[in-house]
Amino acid sequence: MTDLARARRVVVKVGSALVAGDEGADSHWLAAFSADAARMRARGQQVLVVSSGAVALGRRRLGLARRSSLPEKQAAAAAGQSALMRAWEEALEPHGLAAAQVLLTRDDTEVRRRWLNARATVETLLGLGVVPVVNENDTVATEEIRVGDNDRLAARVAQMIGADALVLLSDVDGLYTADPRSNPDARHLPVIERLTPEIEAMAGGANAAAGVGTGGMATKLAAARIAAAAGCATFITLGTRPSPLLAIEEGERATRIEPAISPAAAYKAWIAGTLAPTGVLVVDQGAAAAVRRGKSLLAAGVRRIEGRFDKGDAVLIRDEAGLDIARGLVRYEAEDAARIVGLKSEAIEAAIGYTSGPLVHADDLALAPHREPVG
Ligand code: GLU
Repeated sequence: MTDLARARRVVVKVGSALVAGDEGADSHWLAAFSADAARMRARGQQVLVVSSGAVALGRRRLGLARRSSLPEKQAAAAAGQSALMRAWEEALEPHGLAAAQVLLTRDDTEVRRRWLNARATVETLLGLGVVPVVNENDTVATEEIRVGDNDRLAARVAQMIGADALVLLSDVDGLYTADPRSNPDARHLPVIERLTPEIEAMAGGANAAAGVGTGGMATKLAAARIAAAAGCATFITLGTRPSPLLAIEEGERATRIEPAISPAAAYKAWIAGTLAPTGVLVVDQGAAAAVRRGKSLLAAGVRRIEGRFDKGDAVLIRDEAGLDIARGLVRYEAEDAARIVGLKSEAIEAAIGYTSGPLVHADDLALAPHREPVG
């Protein structure tokens, strides 16, 4: 069972209806939520917020109608995002928490190099004890390049940073077998072990329209599917409670969707299976043995490189006998990698003017299935 109180990294999606009231940002709700988040941080948990509300706040600021054109929506997002951040800062500050604005587009969570950059920034913020407040960069994201809804964006962010819990704060307290507003027999589902086609059908039918804003139940389940595959549990619960995170911990009504695997295993599977390697790093015996023991691959242990690759691309790590040992995400582009081959870590900066650490970090390595040497 996934326990929110013990999750190391928690991504919380906050919808427009919660933060944007009739008068502007809902400072009461934000203050109560921030106290709840601060409680988790004090326990050593890392909390990241994915907050909607830019468009809603901006519309009000600019006096735009609800049905507006795309450029108007983008203008509203620009005007509203600053109001949204001000509201978050004012809410988090009394708890000694700094907020940091992170605006992402779909490319940032899908194109590897940008993904690695975004991940590194967010990890640094979390390490510094800051609460990243993420939203889609609506001002530049046209329809074709949008993630589209913040439920999905939150799931992608959870995947990107290897979160173990994703909380979707909604206007319903979880998933039901039918629409509870019209069907008195509707049963609440507290735990979903696996997202089966039957469960998906339930959300697609009766519950599809539940929830205001962009995301109904169907988009919540789509987000949960992304999270589950990334090893992250999803909690769907009522966001209007003053302390929605505490409410989950105390067993108030919510739906928990269990992950399919651990975040680390999901990340390694992604490296091992999804990415096509574009280059090869041929390593000496010492480095091969170190990589097999789960260590990072240092430039010193690399004999030569083959192929063309950019920073962040997947590469094969091969020993001199031609045996593939692992796949990993390389931290240098091919030209720079070629110039630091064989060098000790301290000599890298002098050779190429910067250092990104090991050629491939242990976290970004997936070992090939072990093969016994023949003969
Ligand atoms: N990014 C949008 C906003 O901040 C909201 C998208 C969503 O809620 O799904 O207004």
